[in-house]
Amino acid sequence: MRIGIDLGGTKIEGIVLRGEQAVLLRQRIATPTGDYEATLAAVVALISELENAVGASPLAVGLGHPGSLSPATQKIQNANSTCLNARALGEDLQALLGREIRMANDANCLALSEAFDGAAAGVATAFAVILGTGVGGGILVNGQTIIGANAIAGEWGHNPLPWVRPEWDEVPGPRCWCGRHGCIETWLSGVGLAQDHLRATHQALNGEQIVAAAEAGDSAAQATLARFEDRLARALAHVINLLDPAVIVLGGGLSRIARLYRHVPALWDDWIFSNRVATRLLPAQHGDSSGVLGAARLWPESAQVPHA
Ligand SMILES: [Zn+2]
Repeated sequence: MRIGIDLGGTKIEGIVLRGEQAVLLRQRIATPTGDYEATLAAVVALISELENAVGASPLAVGLGHPGSLSPATQKIQNANSTCLNARALGEDLQALLGREIRMANDANCLALSEAFDGAAAGVATAFAVILGTGVGGGILVNGQTIIGANAIAGEWGHNPLPWVRPEWDEVPGPRCWCGRHGCIETWLSGVGLAQDHLRATHQALNGEQIVAAAEAGDSAAQATLARFEDRLARALAHVINLLDPAVIVLGGGLSRIARLYRHVPALWDDWIFSNRVATRLLPAQHGDSSGVLGAARLWPESAQVPHA
């Protein structure tokens, strides 16, 4: 048995995985917002709850987290949950748990999970995207994630939204927590979608409510989703021009919007430098819980857990 933890901006999900496929147990708790010490405590409590429930300890723990572990400092960088940044998350958790843990960027965990037995299984190149509290990406080549010299491979969420439309007030774009304006994340995260709708309509709705309103025939909500799709198409066209993946797989809460998979590929042709586009846009086969499976599989099936 192995434990996978997905440390997200709004929820922390934990599973116990037996063998390669069987999820014995799944728990979701709210992420303590903006509080690093409370986040550590919540992760540790979740792990011990899972271990108590299955009656086994210590289990191997794999953790997916936003941002990356800087190779230079071994501290978190680039996390949209900004309380994690410049913190030695791995060291601190290992000290509290008394064992070695494995960690990877959350989009890379999604990528590994979908390469294992999901939407990206068997393809040579894929790009995995999290559309959630933040926006991140991971690059898969032959089933392996690319980490990169700075551990930021695939992190295009803080590139600027390309081919901006001034008529949609995309210049300079909203201010991002990273200090710049108009980052892809400021448009394509859950908050980005809600803020865009708020600016256009003065209605405060979250992503789910916007989708429900659009389905019920609300033309303003439909226009918000159309803008979202156009922006996603442009952002992904940039990736396709660079990486030319066979598959782009979407995870995170906003990946549940079914119309994205029909509309975005119909829009992205305009910006892709090819007369025919074979790249497929697919939802994560394991839904928004895909990342946590990838996190559990950071350890091999028969892992012995080294003490920290
Ligand atoms: Zn940014």
